[in-house]
Amino acid sequence: MSDTSSVLRIVWIYPDLLSTYGDQGNALILRRRAELRGIKTELVRVLSSDPVPVEGDVYLLGGGEDRPQILAADRLRSDGGLKRAAERGAAVFAVCAGYQIIGESYGDDADNPLPGVGILDVRSGRGETRAVGEIVADIAPELGGGRITGFENHQGRTAVGPSAVPLSRTVTGVGNDGHTEGAYQGQVIGTYLHGPALPRNPHLADLLLRMRVGEIPPLPPSWGETLHQERLAAAL
Ligand code: GLN
Repeated sequence: MSDTSSVLRIVWIYPDLLSTYGDQGNALILRRRAELRGIKTELVRVLSSDPVPVEGDVYLLGGGEDRPQILAADRLRSDGGLKRAAERGAAVFAVCAGYQIIGESYGDDADNPLPGVGILDVRSGRGETRAVGEIVADIAPELGGGRITGFENHQGRTAVGPSAVPLSRTVTGVGNDGHTEGAYQGQVIGTYLHGPALPRNPHLADLLLRMRVGEIPPLPPSWGETLHQERLAAAL
């Protein structure tokens, strides 16, 4: 957490542009899982007309349709706050359009490459088909492993560059390219998983919390584990 405050600041970026498939649930569950550990939190919603604060702890971006995605990317690039926050060690969790936006570049609806925020070494372009449906993947062992599930709906395909590492290997579904899903680089994580991802995958929420607050005690399995197991069983 930031040195000047004992409050975990969760910054939800552009709910007016990037929030498909209930991605706001990521902010709510992160907050809840922190507070259940006695960690005070503040949830800051940053509209696309507002500056992005630099002193947050965890930044969340959701999915979006093609045009709002371009608008969001342009505003984030000209604002500069998210990039500065990531440079000073904030954690970032970005979903689908948000994932593509924080990369080096992404494709517009005619697959012209457009510049991203550049905090994650990935490049996205348009695929031949739309990837739609349930996805199951295994998180990289160096991040603690574990199976994650979600719902994907994207035209984009993503290549992970040498400075980033795939977040997981797909068991079913498409993700980046049919083999890997998402990417991470330091404390910056991107994924195609909606669902929302953090309520469906409590160990992923806790991974993000640990990046900012260090070790945290486990919660009883009833806190999210039932939903995780139910979605896993439904997907496989
Ligand atoms: N517009 C992007 C794509 O289709 C992201 C879609 C989304 O966020 N669901 O790849």
